[in-house]
Amino acid sequence: MKLVCKICNSEVSKQVTELNDSNLLNLNDGQDYIPEGFYIVLDNDNFFPMLKGSIIINIQDLINSNYHSNVGRLNGCCGYDGCDGMNRVCLSNHDIGTECSDCWMPHFVALNSECVKFTE
Ligand SMILES: [Zn+2]
Repeated sequence: MKLVCKICNSEVSKQVTELNDSNLLNLNDGQDYIPEGFYIVLDNDNFFPMLKGSIIINIQDLINSNYHSNVGRLNGCCGYDGCDGMNRVCLSNHDIGTECSDCWMPHFVALNSECVKFTE
């Protein structure tokens, strides 16, 4: 599966498959939350309630994406904390999701399921 922007259909992820083994998720701060090549859909009891329903991928699996033009969304200590709304856009500047890559959190990209969809 790949993920594409719902508005312009541009691909925003490499090939990813659903991760069925939650033991492979890593909650250590500053490290990758999910291995490359996989995705999960966040349910209720996750560490960021505001990201419920998001599709989580490894930052390395995000492609064709820029940072948001609103710098108010790009806060963070040494990375991006994603606390101010979606900070990633497709190449046509449509919101697609939130990169969380700051030192005090596990690292991942949370793609908003309202903004992206799966494709073969
Ligand atoms: Zn787009």
